[in-house]
Amino acid sequence: MITQVISAVTQEEGGTTLGASLIRAGELVAFPTETVYGLGANGLDGEAVNRIFEAKGRPNDNPLILHIAKKSDLKKLWAHVPDRAYPLIETFWPGPLTLIFHKADVVPYEVTAGLETVAVRMPSDRTARALIRKAEVPIAAPSANRSGKPSPTNAKHVLDDMDGRIPLILDGGDCKYGVESTVLSLVGEPTILRPGAITREMLEAVIGPVRLAASILKPLGEREVAASPGMKYKHYAPDARVIVVDGTPEETSKCVLSLYYDLLEEGKTVEVLSTAQTQFRYRGIAATEIGDRAHPETLCANLFSALREVGALCDVILAEGVGTSEEGLAYMNRLLRAAGFDRIDASEYNKKQTKQ
Ligand code: AMP
Ligand code: MG
Repeated sequence: MITQVISAVTQEEGGTTLGASLIRAGELVAFPTETVYGLGANGLDGEAVNRIFEAKGRPNDNPLILHIAKKSDLKKLWAHVPDRAYPLIETFWPGPLTLIFHKADVVPYEVTAGLETVAVRMPSDRTARALIRKAEVPIAAPSANRSGKPSPTNAKHVLDDMDGRIPLILDGGDCKYGVESTVLSLVGEPTILRPGAITREMLEAVIGPVRLAASILKPLGEREVAASPGMKYKHYAPDARVIVVDGTPEETSKCVLSLYYDLLEEGKTVEVLSTAQTQFRYRGIAATEIGDRAHPETLCANLFSALREVGALCDVILAEGVGTSEEGLAYMNRLLRAAGFDRIDASEYNKKQTKQ
């Protein structure tokens, strides 16, 4: 199959019209959203949805999100809309918030991976909304990467993973947020299953206390059941090994420098993902500044592209951990998974070094 790439900037009208006709014909289309690129299919057609799992190599017990273009479409997809959904939808839609509730009968089990609940989101990206509106069906879409790889934040990343597997990629340039949507379950106590740009703090300001799923910053124990099935899989892994180094800017950079030279001595090629607070300490070594600790949304915006691009250049990435308030939680959730939870506490490491 030839994969066509059409600019959603210069050819939005033609690109979204072709995309919508492919979706209606049961084919797959990759499209930009404000979070990451999505790999879409007709969300009411189980066979079309199965093609997503094939193209991604995604385990079929990991459910998808349905994307809609109008708030009123939600009531067709849920058994009913619970009262507390309304203030959330009014405040955060369109935008990077996915809501989970009991599904209506029209939603095929291929979308929900057999669950009785379904995840729905209304994206704000212009191209995504034009595509969904013209397709006249909800579009089921996970991130448009091969399963296990970092999510794509531009059309080149999608082409690297999907070339020859899908007929069309709509190229809308770089994604605004760079991490996937916040996933909030409204079944029982409101619970964040996956953190994103709509933070716990922002949600609590609208609906009061919100819980965090246990697996957000740690691996699932062997006997624990994943609240969000996607959480149990290897995720976001670039070509290189990733090690997270956690602590204050001073402790972190000291530890990173020590690990950097140790790894070089072992014959490894190493790259550092640094922050605005530490970049000046890495003069003369391979370090890429990906954002500002005081504004963790900047780290989120660059993380996946850095993992893909820097990960292709080296054996080991040393990445700085940051605090987990606000968007820092989404950043650490993705980074720790990319590292397979390989994490070093900088202050403990530095203490051991001085003793030796
Ligand atoms: P992705 O498609 O890569 O953005 O992943 C979608 C995320 O939403 C995955 O982590 C899924 O496990 C999660 N998800 C989707 N539907 C449900 C659901 N009904 N219940 C729990 N988690 C869900
Ligand atoms: Mg994904």
